[in-house]
Amino acid sequence: MLDVRNLQKTYTGRNRTVEALRSLSFHIDANELVCLVGPSGCGKTTLLKCMAGLLAPTGGEVMLDGRPVSGPPPGMAVVFQEYGRSLFAWMNVRDNVALPLRRKKLGKAREKELVDHALEVVGLADAHHAYPWQLSGGMQQRVAIARAVAYEPKVLLMDEPFAAVDAQTRADLEDLIRRLWRELGVTVLFVTHDIDEAVYLGQRTIILSKSPTVVQEDLTIDLPDERDQLHTRSSARFGELRAHVYEQIQRAKHHSGDTEASVPSAAGAATATPHL
Ligand code: ADP
Ligand code: MG
Repeated sequence: MLDVRNLQKTYTGRNRTVEALRSLSFHIDANELVCLVGPSGCGKTTLLKCMAGLLAPTGGEVMLDGRPVSGPPPGMAVVFQEYGRSLFAWMNVRDNVALPLRRKKLGKAREKELVDHALEVVGLADAHHAYPWQLSGGMQQRVAIARAVAYEPKVLLMDEPFAAVDAQTRADLEDLIRRLWRELGVTVLFVTHDIDEAVYLGQRTIILSKSPTVVQEDLTIDLPDERDQLHTRSSARFGELRAHVYEQIQRAKHHSGDTEASVPSAAGAATATPHL
């Protein structure tokens, strides 16, 4: 469904060139929930923008359903970290959620149905007429998620969406994402710098090296499908996977496309379950 092939991105400025992505390749199947972690500044946002067709890569390509992405593809929604900037302060919750639906020209009744449903599933059924600035950070991020849900995307890209909310809200929102993923049959790529979140949420975790960035490891998260904050997080397997990802992130701080040649085995590997 989603194919990232030798994706490269170098930012060229007047005084400075930054090679953000050296060469990234990975594949995401339909209905997968994949997490992506990597050191700060390694190019996670750059990657997501390229995948969403918001930024042109310097090399390589992103394929969605066999077609190259060259602009924002229909059927893809993105939730960014800075919900404060993605919601319009002068529009109430309803109008914020309905906004991207306008270009679908669905008719008033269908639009209302989608907005009602989206606000219901994120637990904001009674906040339709509130303005973003009247809501807590967690609630604002729920509005941003509702907007993505109402759009009925086939692919949902999320860029550290919970980085700015408190721990309890974050746990609730993580469970919300898992529930939406299962109920809506959507394909999700979830970027996070939080190791626990990367293990708890997904079926796979892609670990990126530091810049110039390559895929350091593509790890299968072999936890049971039924997850909950209490039992999953206290299981032995969760602890093992967490420790493994932690070690890999530490390694990622030294590993990059420049050291690739000297790093054996796991570097750039295809899906692997580590022997822990
Ligand atoms: P991450 O999301 O993993 O923290 P980013 O994708 O934001 O990383 O940034 C990757 C690298 O690219 C960083 O070194 C950053 O400074 C640089 N970068 C990001 N956006 C731009 C830009 N518009 N112009 C120049 N350099 C950029
Ligand atoms: Mg980022």
